[in-house]
Amino acid sequence: MDFRRNLLQWFDQNARELPWRQTSDPWAIWVSETMLQQTRVSVVIDYYTRFMARYPTLQSLAQADESEVLALWSGLGYYRRARALHEAARAVVSEHAGVIPQTAAALSRLPGVGVYTAAAVASIAFSEPVAAVDGNVERVLTRYFGHEPVPGVARSGELRRAAEQLVDRERPGDFNQAMMDLGATLCAPKSPMCLACPVREGCATRGEHAVPRTKKMLSRKTALALVQRRQWPKAEVLLQRRAADASQMPNMWELPNVKEGQESEDMLLLTVRHSITNTNYYVTVYGLTMNEQKLLARDTAERVWVPVFDLPELPLTGLTKKILNRLRVMPGFSTARPLVIAEEEAAQAALAAAATTH
Ligand code: SF4
Repeated sequence: MDFRRNLLQWFDQNARELPWRQTSDPWAIWVSETMLQQTRVSVVIDYYTRFMARYPTLQSLAQADESEVLALWSGLGYYRRARALHEAARAVVSEHAGVIPQTAAALSRLPGVGVYTAAAVASIAFSEPVAAVDGNVERVLTRYFGHEPVPGVARSGELRRAAEQLVDRERPGDFNQAMMDLGATLCAPKSPMCLACPVREGCATRGEHAVPRTKKMLSRKTALALVQRRQWPKAEVLLQRRAADASQMPNMWELPNVKEGQESEDMLLLTVRHSITNTNYYVTVYGLTMNEQKLLARDTAERVWVPVFDLPELPLTGLTKKILNRLRVMPGFSTARPLVIAEEEAAQAALAAAATTH
């Protein structure tokens, strides 16, 4: 399956080098996964190193005083994790002869070991093909499948089943860690870097997913019409000016809207969330074929082709600037040309057509 292959290939080249990834010791992996709950990797590294130096084995923790354990944990927060780990270490010594259980089901029966930690340890240390779904992974899957997240339901329901089906049978630990890395780096909560994403091709949203909010949420569709005149960066973007009497942002320039039915899912470029006063917009951006671009340009006199290099001088709406930045169309990016153009086969065909007509 492309998803697994692309994700693991990306992981092989980009895996973050972390101390707990240099070992296959289940105890070390368990400690790291416990510390990583609700805590940033950069904060965990020092605590993990000190903790493992003091308690290199499960037995050494089981024998320690709780106050000593808490002192070492001090500053990392969520102290119930330390207490639970201590208690679980003692349970492994007394009930499992000091041998850490090897399946997620058995691990999750230990005191304080949740479904996520059990799956992470079982897959990474013992290669059990189970999905470890934390908040980061849930976000990746929600965006990839395009589901509306349902708080408290998604993780146990449909999304979890999808996650279980996706796990790589040969390399479940690497797969889960790759998903965690993807969620923590490229598929970040804000401004996901979809253009560099290894699973972009199959992703339903290619950007932020809609979230239930107290604010009003409106959907909107917009288009990126970009033609290349001779060589990049000599390119132009189609923009339209907002009406002079518009209640918001009069006279500012924005990307043209796409009418319902005009969009083609094949040309989905990305989605973004954007707030304007008390309304949240969920905006889908499409690329257009050359013919569609021409039709759109002809639609109204208020639409003009603007050279990419003039964009910083124009009063663009915040949303337009955000989209052009995400797609690396705004000047100033080091890439030779916007990745989106390089990647989209249909857009390339449009560019070729443009080259012959201009
Ligand atoms: S394409 Fe974007 S939204 Fe989709 S999984 Fe990748 S980073 Fe996340």
